[in-house]
Amino acid sequence: MPTPVLPIVQPSLAAIAALPPGISGETADSLGAWLRDRGDPPFRARQILDAVWRTGASGPEAVLTLPAPLREALAAAFRWDSVGATELTITDAGATEKALHRLDDGAVVESVLMHYPAGPNRRERNTLCISSQAGCAVGCPFCATGELGFGRDLLASEILDQVRSAARRLAARDRRLTNVVFMGMGEPLLNLDRVLDAVEALNDPARYGLGARHITISTSGVVPGIRRLTALGPQFTLAVSLHAGRDPLRDVLVPLNRRWPVAEVVAAAREHAAATGRRISYEVTMIAGVNDTDADAEAIAGLLRGELAHVNLIPMNPVAHTPWTASPMAVIEHFASRLREAGIQTTIRRNRGQEVGAACGQLAAERAGAPTPAAVERRRDRLVASSAAALRGERSREPLPAGLGEAGR
Ligand code: SAH
Ligand code: SF4
Repeated sequence: MPTPVLPIVQPSLAAIAALPPGISGETADSLGAWLRDRGDPPFRARQILDAVWRTGASGPEAVLTLPAPLREALAAAFRWDSVGATELTITDAGATEKALHRLDDGAVVESVLMHYPAGPNRRERNTLCISSQAGCAVGCPFCATGELGFGRDLLASEILDQVRSAARRLAARDRRLTNVVFMGMGEPLLNLDRVLDAVEALNDPARYGLGARHITISTSGVVPGIRRLTALGPQFTLAVSLHAGRDPLRDVLVPLNRRWPVAEVVAAAREHAAATGRRISYEVTMIAGVNDTDADAEAIAGLLRGELAHVNLIPMNPVAHTPWTASPMAVIEHFASRLREAGIQTTIRRNRGQEVGAACGQLAAERAGAPTPAAVERRRDRLVASSAAALRGERSREPLPAGLGEAGR
């Protein structure tokens, strides 16, 4: 049964596409063409990009290096900021900042900014976790976004404006963004064209200028998308949300596994590591009594032994409508030691922003409204039954979540 879709708004890519394009989606070439059509000199493209990416200007009217008619034309032709309506919630004693962005069709997405102070052997880090879609079609049952169902793909400019918003907030504190991770709402590899446009802008020295090593894309295992990334060469770090090494359990935890089973996902990631020389990061959300046993550690070790890989174990953050909780830390530590014994580099990561439901990758659009108690109970019963069947080794007979039938074609 597909994950229930909670009606928040009717997000619409068509409605958004009818609006003027977001300026952050423009390149030197596209702005050059626009200027040429207007009869303006080409060097203005550089000035506009600087204003968009470097000055933190609140709108074209504030860009005084440009002549007034050009400022007016820019204001009419482009949207300067597609995440203008942003609410912030601060937590972890100021170290984590959740931003709730309302987009121009009413869709709501979130980004989370995490500050890690400098230590004896490492520099300060400011990591931004961004969304690539409003909602998500994959429907992982432990994920708040999965529970929302799919809203729509984000435009490249909407992805990038989350970054510009955070960069402006950091600049006001004399800080700079050091890392961007696609671990917010959505499955980036199911919106890959726009995600790649956004990554190009982040990389481009004339735009954001963030090194490829500082960008991570996380996927639940869209095999054709991984292969496409491999063909492009080393552009960023690839993270794979593994969660289970056994197909029956992964069918339940990551419903996309019914389409691309775990061995195929790991094989595609292996090819990516071999082609790019970049280590793959595997994420495992640790759920008490579900995927944290010795048999699970062995299954993952069997898949990853000898790979250019790193495993991150993340205690599951509480999500309201599941029957599950995080594995106890002692269990996670034992699991980590089993993986390390198999020669697999493993770290345990604490998620940030839990108090405000903003832990990266667990972004709940709390405006969604609560499902009825009966619906919650049905969902819990279904998860208990399906995970119990999985633990007996039975493959899921449930269909792919709605909308994924065509995924990756
Ligand atoms: N859709 C992509 C990227 C966004 S999710 C993916 O699944 O990889 C980013 C990460 O957050 C994933 O590894 C996801 O499994 C994890 N995550 C989701 N819900 C979580 C929760 N409740 N607790 C801990 N991690 C969670
Ligand atoms: Fe989508 Fe990732 Fe959440 Fe799964 S974990 S539902 S793929 S956002």
